Parts: sequence; structure tokens; C-alpha cells
Amino acid sequence: MEREAAHRAGRREANLRKVNERVVVAVEALEAAAPGDGGTSLLQLICECALDSCEEMIAVPAAFYDEVRERTDVFLVAPGHVLHEIEDGIEDGDGWIVVRKRGAAADGARDALEGTV
Ligand SMILES: [Zn+2]
Repeated sequence: MEREAAHRAGRREANLRKVNERVVVAVEALEAAAPGDGGTSLLQLICECALDSCEEMIAVPAAFYDEVRERTDVFLVAPGHVLHEIEDGIEDGDGWIVVRKRGAAADGARDALEGTV
């Protein structure tokens, strides 16, 4: 994949991640209003892969989500949605995979998350 396409793919995933971040803020506000199981709940997120047509949902443990969000080059995708040209799967969960971007895709994701694009 050429650099520009990889960069674009990284930006796309970063934008999906921003959508998920808004979803999680809303969920956390609900949980604060009605405390439940103390962070062991599953968050329903949209798959953060680079496929334009993807509409998969993934269920990720809330505590794990917080860990992943601390990095700009790591994303949560559905099984089978790892784009090996631009990223590596680094951890498998129950119905989700953590991927780490490489090269231009990592740059694109970081730029989008830091608001420089
Ligand atoms: Zn996907």
C-alpha cells in the first residue's frame, strides 16, 4: 500500500475511535447515574478497522478499553478485520482484536487524534 493510502487508513481508524470515545463518555455518564458492576461491563463499540464498508460492532471489557485508549497507534477491530499491510494484531480477545499500526498508518492515526490534520 502506498504511503498516502496508509496514512488515510490511519486517519479513518482514528476518526472511528473518536466516535467510540463519545459513545464511551455517554455510557460512563449513564453508569455514574446508576452504578452497576464496577467496570466489568462490556462496551459496545464500532469496529475501528480501515474497511470503508465495515459496520461491525464489538463488545470490549470497559477496563481493557481504558488501557488501549492510552496509545495513539493501537485500535480495536473485529476478528478478520486486521489489515496486515498497515498493522499487526497484538492481542486477541473474545470477539475483538487489538491492532497496532505501522509506518504511515500510525502517523495518520496520530495526526488525526492530535488534531493536526
Ligand atoms: Zn471492521
